[in-house]
Amino acid sequence: MQELRSAGFQAQMLLEATEDGIYALDPEGHCIWANPATARILGYPSAAVLVGRQMHDVIHHTRADGSPFPIEECTGLQMLKERQRVMQAEELLWRADGTSFYADVRVNPMVREGEMVGAVVVFRDLTERMRLESQYRQAQKMEAVGRLAAGIAHDFNNLLSVITGYTELLLQRPALAANDEQRLRAIERASGRAAELTRQLLAFSRKQAVQATVLDLNDVVRGAEPMLLRVLGEDLVFEVELEPNLAPIKADEGQLEQVLMNLAVNARDAMPEGGRLRIQTAGAVLDAAAAEALNVAPGSYATLAVADTGVGMDAETIRHIFEPFFTTKPVGKGSGLGLSMVFGIVRQSGGAIKVESEPGRGTAMKVFLPVYNTAGEETTAPAAPDAAGAAADQPSASRA
Ligand code: ADP
Ligand code: MG
Repeated sequence: MQELRSAGFQAQMLLEATEDGIYALDPEGHCIWANPATARILGYPSAAVLVGRQMHDVIHHTRADGSPFPIEECTGLQMLKERQRVMQAEELLWRADGTSFYADVRVNPMVREGEMVGAVVVFRDLTERMRLESQYRQAQKMEAVGRLAAGIAHDFNNLLSVITGYTELLLQRPALAANDEQRLRAIERASGRAAELTRQLLAFSRKQAVQATVLDLNDVVRGAEPMLLRVLGEDLVFEVELEPNLAPIKADEGQLEQVLMNLAVNARDAMPEGGRLRIQTAGAVLDAAAAEALNVAPGSYATLAVADTGVGMDAETIRHIFEPFFTTKPVGKGSGLGLSMVFGIVRQSGGAIKVESEPGRGTAMKVFLPVYNTAGEETTAPAAPDAAGAAADQPSASRA
């Protein structure tokens, strides 16, 4: 069909098929034209009803706190007029029915012979992405609280056994004064109740029990890809490179997804201006020296690397990133729990993390997980449990 080949027809098809809202403005901000997605997202019966209207009054009339947003204060329109450059922002937009949503909004000036003759606005609803993120932050918090509870309950139980042990010894003493015996019985009862409390705490934290299965790291990455794509947004170049002959590992799949998510979200946050995020799997054999540097056993490992071209970190930041609640992000943006969780999960699986980063030069985080051979034995001895001294547990960090 001749029609299908015409440039005009193709352009129209593109504009009608895309899920992004796209509309054109005159220099004063009146709608000249809008695509069907604009009308659909904003809840209007058709794009035609928007034409001729002042778009600020249609979708931008009220601020998030409910107060009016006068057009004179609309920085988008002002900036566009004065500087004539592309503007991108997360803005609250209003639908026809009076509800609102956050959108990623880009305003691209149309310039003819040095004059701004209007603008093309492209916007995308961020509701789903924000919902996913908050759900994920909540899950992160619960996991951290669970870990904390389990850790405290464990140590606390050890202390309790000292208390009950000595109490029992004292109770066995002959010729114990009656009121001393009463006092010791009170201690015994109180420690019994404390033990019951710690059992409840442990039960709570075990609800997120770990289910380690033999799995292929590549499958985990593939399975998490749709989720990652949604959370990452489209400003990033997203590359996945999977080693085809990857040996199996033994780990909890949900936990590995969390590891991947955390690393990817951190990478995204490090690239506010866009960039490249690369996820890579590979095999690695650690000899004695390499294994010692990572504080794991020598042997075969499968690795999962997440690398970004973002802001990077200085040496001081790298020293702290695995600490719970360490964050350089503003309140509400960062919990500081992501990497501490990643660290916990990886150690629990007998693995390690290597960090390579430098300010302005991006970050690469590489997770090493011991290969599980089908004979049923790990080819590497599991690492010592975490409680055994913090010094031996420091993640390895190196500069890029
Ligand atoms: P949060 O992301 O909530 O801040 P994390 O534990 O995930 O907490 O990360 C801690 C800190 O480590 C971040 O605030 C950031 O300063 C730093 N960080 C982590 N990943 C990266 C990265 N890919 N690039 C730059 N900095 C990072
Ligand atoms: Mg994080």
